[in-house]
Amino acid sequence: MYASGDTIAAISTAYGEGAIAIVRVSGPEAASVLAKVFRPKHGTGPDRALRYGYAVSADGTPIDEVLAVFMKGPATYTGEDLCEIQCHGGTQSARRILAACHDAGCRYAEPGEFTKLAFLNGRLDLAEAESVIDLIEAGSSRAHEEALRKLSGSLSEEIRALREVLADELVLLAVNMDYPDEDIEIATLEKLREALLPVRERVERLVRSADEGRIVRDGISCAIVGRPNVGKSSLLNAFLREDRAIVTDIPGTTRDTIEEAVSVDGILVRFTDTAGMRETADPIERIGVERSRGALALSDLALFVLDASSPVTEEDRELAALLDPRKTLILLNKCDRETVLDEETVREAFPALCGDEVGAREAFPALSGGAFPAEGEGAEQDGKRWNSNVFRVSAKTGVGIDAVRKAITEAVLGGRVSPGEGLVITSLRQKGSLERALSLLSDAIGGTEAGEALDVVETDVRAAWEALGEIVGETASEDIVDRVFERFCLGK
Ligand code: GDP
Repeated sequence: MYASGDTIAAISTAYGEGAIAIVRVSGPEAASVLAKVFRPKHGTGPDRALRYGYAVSADGTPIDEVLAVFMKGPATYTGEDLCEIQCHGGTQSARRILAACHDAGCRYAEPGEFTKLAFLNGRLDLAEAESVIDLIEAGSSRAHEEALRKLSGSLSEEIRALREVLADELVLLAVNMDYPDEDIEIATLEKLREALLPVRERVERLVRSADEGRIVRDGISCAIVGRPNVGKSSLLNAFLREDRAIVTDIPGTTRDTIEEAVSVDGILVRFTDTAGMRETADPIERIGVERSRGALALSDLALFVLDASSPVTEEDRELAALLDPRKTLILLNKCDRETVLDEETVREAFPALCGDEVGAREAFPALSGGAFPAEGEGAEQDGKRWNSNVFRVSAKTGVGIDAVRKAITEAVLGGRVSPGEGLVITSLRQKGSLERALSLLSDAIGGTEAGEALDVVETDVRAAWEALGEIVGETASEDIVDRVFERFCLGK
């Protein structure tokens, strides 16, 4: 059991006004700290019982009416003795209780220190600890589900199983390295190769899942571009309206843009409306090309909006030239009006942007292997097939909005947006370790095929075993561990 000897304290709830705030204390002196800062109304109670009373400062002055609980280690979050004091929210109570804990002998906790203790005491492994921060930061239901899955150990189990295979092989290698017999050596290499191939396949799949993991965790950015008055802002509103789960307002990443995040089928989609373009009265700077370029450079996907009730203009063409056909959906807006644009005219006007070979089909090739349904599989949506990248929509009536939403998630995840379809890697740190393990496994497999000496192959297998160990923290250096917990907030 890890023991720093310190007893630490922090406010674990968010700063600001709220109903309740919680001060948490962990360490060998937790019980005596609680005895000093808490006066129960009805005498002492059993371990883990929530008791009512007063929190008091060092000189006995009452601070607040509170509920307090003491939990004897090691079956606690940190693995140490732990107590929590629940006081009224707001800025004063919790801060004064924390100060009282400090006076009673606690040191102020570092960010993430409670969870770091949990890791050091074997309550959580490093992958599980990382999922705690993912859980807290989750901006969509999918991100939340994925974090919870990892917190319950699903990734850790998988990594442990892979490491066990490698460990067994290392034992066999060690035994056989002591017998310099060529036949044994060849047989050993052959067996080793057979054992390593499925491990490499699993690791490869996990590495590939990291692209999807980024999207699950951070969501995708989607720029809405088009000349003034085609209906960009109205469309943005339509998306927000359709999905009542508006997550958050984010300041625009480029000047004069609005960014708003919406959860589309559990995936966070950050829409950027290049609304500033409308304010550009200067006819020479007609379309704010630079602004669109900026927004586009940062986006995973673009919605190119045209006004279906008016002919294609030069400005439309200039904007179209900025777009990457592999990640563009074309929206013919205002289709509730008399229209002059249809899919055919759009295809003729923007041959580089439309057609079977392009479309968001390839926006995320690593994930989808064909984002849109193959020819002939497209669903009928609002009277048109959506296996192309042109959509008839109306921000006013809401027609076609659903099809676009569907296309966005299809484009991004190739339809794989429902949870529970295999683990995805959301941590760059974990991805790095997996990539290293992958390359070492490939070297080892190459070595078995080339008939390398056993000890050479052994070195690669051992290094791969260690690289995988970094993910769960079993072979992680102090530096790696520190970097993981740096991301945490105070009191967690
Ligand atoms: P933006 O400059 O591209 O952001 O365009 P806006 O969203 O401000 O829309 C410009 C004008 O077009 C407004 O008067 C909207 O009410 C109107 N508009 C937008 N979408 C539609 C639509 O689908 N149908 C109709 N009939 N009018 C629309």
